[in-house]
Amino acid sequence: MKKYVFSFGDGKADGSGSMRELLGGKGANLAEMTAIGLPVPAGFTLTTEVCTEFYRNNRHYPDGLVEQVKEGLGKVEAQMGKTFGDPTQPLLVSVRSGSRASMPGMMDTVLNLGLNDQTVQGVIDQSGDPRFAYDSYRRFIQMYSNVVLDLESAKLEHILEQMKEDKGVHLDTELSAADLKQLVSLFKKKVQEELGQGFPEDPEEQLWGAIGAVFDSWMNPRAITYRKLNDIPADWGTAVNVQSMVFGNMGDDCATGVAFTRDPSTGENYFYGEYLVNAQGEDVVAGIRTPQPINKAKHKPGDLPAMEDVMPDCYAQLVGIRDILEKHYRDMQDIEFTIETGKLYMLQTRTGKRTAHAAIHIATEMVQEGLISEKEAVLRIDPNQLDQLLHPSLDPKAEKQVIAKGLPASPGAASGKVVFNADEAEEMARLKNKVILVRVETSPEDIHGMHAAQGILTARGGMTSHAAVVARGMGKCCVAGCGELKIDYEKQQLTTKSGQVIKRGEIITLDGSAGEVILGDVPKVQPEVSGDFAILMAWVDKFRRLKVRTNADTPHDSRVAREFGAEGIGLCRTEHMFFEGERIQAVREMILADDLEGRKKALAKIMPMQKGDFKGIFREMKGLPVTIRLLDPPLHEFLPQTDDDVAELAAVAGVKFSEVREHVEALHEFNPMLGHRGCRLGITYPEVYDMQVQAIMEAACELVKEEGFEIVPEIMIPLVCHVNELRILRENAVQVAEEVCNRFGVRVDYLIGTMIELPRAALMADKIAREADFFSFGTNDLTQTTYGLSRDDAGHFLPDYVERGVFKKDPFVALDRAGVGQLVRMGTEKGRQTRPDLKVGICGEHGGEPSSVVFCHEIGLDYVSCSPYRVPIARLAAAHAALQEG
Ligand code: PEP
Ligand code: MG
Repeated sequence: MKKYVFSFGDGKADGSGSMRELLGGKGANLAEMTAIGLPVPAGFTLTTEVCTEFYRNNRHYPDGLVEQVKEGLGKVEAQMGKTFGDPTQPLLVSVRSGSRASMPGMMDTVLNLGLNDQTVQGVIDQSGDPRFAYDSYRRFIQMYSNVVLDLESAKLEHILEQMKEDKGVHLDTELSAADLKQLVSLFKKKVQEELGQGFPEDPEEQLWGAIGAVFDSWMNPRAITYRKLNDIPADWGTAVNVQSMVFGNMGDDCATGVAFTRDPSTGENYFYGEYLVNAQGEDVVAGIRTPQPINKAKHKPGDLPAMEDVMPDCYAQLVGIRDILEKHYRDMQDIEFTIETGKLYMLQTRTGKRTAHAAIHIATEMVQEGLISEKEAVLRIDPNQLDQLLHPSLDPKAEKQVIAKGLPASPGAASGKVVFNADEAEEMARLKNKVILVRVETSPEDIHGMHAAQGILTARGGMTSHAAVVARGMGKCCVAGCGELKIDYEKQQLTTKSGQVIKRGEIITLDGSAGEVILGDVPKVQPEVSGDFAILMAWVDKFRRLKVRTNADTPHDSRVAREFGAEGIGLCRTEHMFFEGERIQAVREMILADDLEGRKKALAKIMPMQKGDFKGIFREMKGLPVTIRLLDPPLHEFLPQTDDDVAELAAVAGVKFSEVREHVEALHEFNPMLGHRGCRLGITYPEVYDMQVQAIMEAACELVKEEGFEIVPEIMIPLVCHVNELRILRENAVQVAEEVCNRFGVRVDYLIGTMIELPRAALMADKIAREADFFSFGTNDLTQTTYGLSRDDAGHFLPDYVERGVFKKDPFVALDRAGVGQLVRMGTEKGRQTRPDLKVGICGEHGGEPSSVVFCHEIGLDYVSCSPYRVPIARLAAAHAALQEG
């Protein structure tokens, strides 16, 4: 017969801590604590297999379960010296859920089970406290009626309130034993009335009712949603733990408490906990009474006496248990305990949740203490959690009024005055105002305003929209795709879903990690990247194989990225440089020029400025590889769109308004993302790419000649779909590069490679590799074109897709291994068939997303490239990938 019930108690346990899958987290840890000699009230666990079979067999329990439960109960009775249902020495039990992964508060629990009109007498005799006995009884009826019998909790709650009103009291604790006894009979009457059946008196019936309810709660909507959000499969099932009750509310020699073996917010090695005398667990959690600290180490004036003073023996025992648990589990534990008439019991232990800051402190300190290895320390830090440390974040203690929710496009938090256009953002920032730039969506024209703003809020666009990508690159917080906001440029205001109007100049706060828009200025806490963080990251670099570069377009971003450990630039987008200062005029002149001559004249003005940018970036990167991508967006993005702007340009350029308008219209495209952009521009206007290559090579030659630099620039051609595009553009680039080297009389080696960001390029990668020194996968466009999903429009409906489980994750956030990933894998393999030494990286937004980084490691890429603030996250994810390889 299969074993469905695992007992624990009195120093012996059928199960162990390693049986989490079968016993759930709580059951496994109760078994483990019992086995290592800690005082745990006796009990037993019904396995997760019972749950799976229960659902598989139409809510029938497997054969043999009833007998095994009876046997388990018998052992508990023997160990506790009490009998279930016995009127003189009654055993009361708790029935709790416990799945493999922690799902706090999602499933049901029943306490004080086994009470009826007879057994309550036994509890009175045992405790000598009728009030306590009837209070436990009425709590049991309330909980059981709600959880098992499905009676709306307000029905009984109402009777309790009525009773308090009748007696003229405010608190439950002011009701007498007689009141509570009367409450019990009123409750039962109500149950009979509402449900047409009496409250079950038979403890055995109660027990099976509660077990069934806990298994049922695995499928309640709350639990289903939680599983979806946390990637917990439904077929894991929950275990059920039946355990002897111990009471922390039987008098002043009783107490209950929760503690962390180290401080969960700072990680400090200090026993941090709270307890309440004469109370039950739910009183601590519910906040009805203020809990007291367990020790005096951090006593504040006004704190009530510590457990250390009030119950010194139990406290000393608890400190001993803390040490045993930390040595045993080798990690910070979150524990629950109860003291019943002077005797300490452990009710739970589990790995404690902690802030990123605490996680790093604990991991590094535990290495120093010899508890864990450097590898374990690295594996203990979740790369996603690092984000918390790299940006200012909202003070978790601060109050906040959320007025809208969008996508968490770029982490961090910022507050400022609302402004609706980029020029104004810049102007106000110059006057030392903090501003939040609010746009329907942003375009490259808004860069200066984004730069000047503390944060960016857009109504349209997804996780790879312009606003999101640029904000992440700048390390600025951004909430994108906040479709519920109505933005009115005319009236200079935004309106929330609830109709609240925020006008220009009013202050809002953005939480880019949560996607929240909040009213007013919310306090923040600053990031810290030295100390423990630096120690941990040094270990990270020892273990990883994948290199980590950054996406940076300015010397400033390059410096930030290097401080975060970037090993080069994987993508320098040159279009942003076109917008700076006066250049945009020259760029527009170039676009408006009628002939090649005119275009060349305008380009000659831009060239020295671009060269200056490249020199600045090369200098910052101190010889590390720098990949510069030639111009990608379609030309219309550089032209003004509104009539006012068109008029202004016409005046400056000395041409007619209609002429400029015509140009704008001529360049209009229905699908600019699939239009005249990327290398297609280079094919039709070779002089643009020639100018850029010249600027790159002259910058390199001057640095080599004047400053003794070693640089190998990597010139990257975007949006290639056919090898012939690359062949032509490569030939042009080589010609220009050689001309520059000859003119300067220095030899600068350079590489010419391509982005692989169209499905055809991945499919034809073996041919394309003939002309490419390196590949860099542009997984933003590759995702867009593989799915046929517009990067800028998908934000409207992708959240529904994820919500409804059509897609597990937003493919613009986490690389779709099965589809897009297959193209990346194939492109890499085919490219290396042609050139075994082909250097391959990825520079789409996925380069900083942990699960995508792991994939890049697995398929043997050389590097990932991501925005500066994600560099540490990618380094850590790369180390995880290497360490988990087995
Ligand atoms: C990409 O497509 O993944 C990429 C990096 O280029 P961009 O985002 O500039 O189109
Ligand atoms: Mg692209």
